[in-house]
Amino acid sequence: MAWFKRVRKPIAPSPGKAVRVPEGLWVKCPGCQEAIYNKDLAGNLRVCPRCSHHFRMGATERLRSLFDGAWEEHDRGLRSTDPLRFTDTKPYADRLRAGLNATGQRDAVITASGQIDGRDVLVAAMEYEFIGGSMGVVVGEKITRAIERGLASRTPVIIVSCSGGARMMEGALSLMQMAKVSAALARLDRAGVPYLSILTDPTTGGVTASFAMLGDLNIAEPKALIGFAGPRVIEQTIRQKLPEGFQRSEFLLAHGMIDIVVDRRELKPTIARALRFMHAPA
Ligand SMILES: [Zn+2]
Repeated sequence: MAWFKRVRKPIAPSPGKAVRVPEGLWVKCPGCQEAIYNKDLAGNLRVCPRCSHHFRMGATERLRSLFDGAWEEHDRGLRSTDPLRFTDTKPYADRLRAGLNATGQRDAVITASGQIDGRDVLVAAMEYEFIGGSMGVVVGEKITRAIERGLASRTPVIIVSCSGGARMMEGALSLMQMAKVSAALARLDRAGVPYLSILTDPTTGGVTASFAMLGDLNIAEPKALIGFAGPRVIEQTIRQKLPEGFQRSEFLLAHGMIDIVVDRRELKPTIARALRFMHAPA
């Protein structure tokens, strides 16, 4: 009966120090600065009930939010062979292991078949907690196979991007995935099978420069960071100050780079409506 010993006394906030709260119970919203009960956030698709700030969502949670019910996962066993034996501040093999421990996944995407509003779909959801959602050989291969499954069965494909871009630890092999996935999407397009791209915060680098911008419909979540290079690199290159809101969903919508900005709570009905419009078989 030692449970009471573990209860921490409240710590008075001292200047410059964050107030300590039991980890995982409350989160501070970066949008409105309010403390939100984590359960409330989970029950609201990780959108702040006060200011509608969209918190990042994990791949499994994303699939749960989109599919009607159970789904069948594909190619779960694929894992990187660390072809370059790459090491930066730490070995790539260690980063892969840490990613597995953090997410229970072997790489940064889950691909699955299921139904949205009674229609068969293939969904690939990227996982940011796995090495920043970066795209290496496994991510590229799993997404390509999902598209090829969609092609073979004439099933619409949906990719939910959440990624820092290509995975530098796999060098040119990761860059090749951009061409490979794009070529598969071109085949899907020629066959007239719909592809919807969902861009979430953040969608950057080689992911933006390939499949994230190739949707028949490119749908972004509000205020998501979407871009290729970072703003600092661009400012240094063009020697100009960038406009307010640059590389956010709303800015991209205003400049014709994406088709629609949709609140996450409206995402599933929006996808269902789009698929209906595109005459995807129910
Ligand atoms: Zn908020």
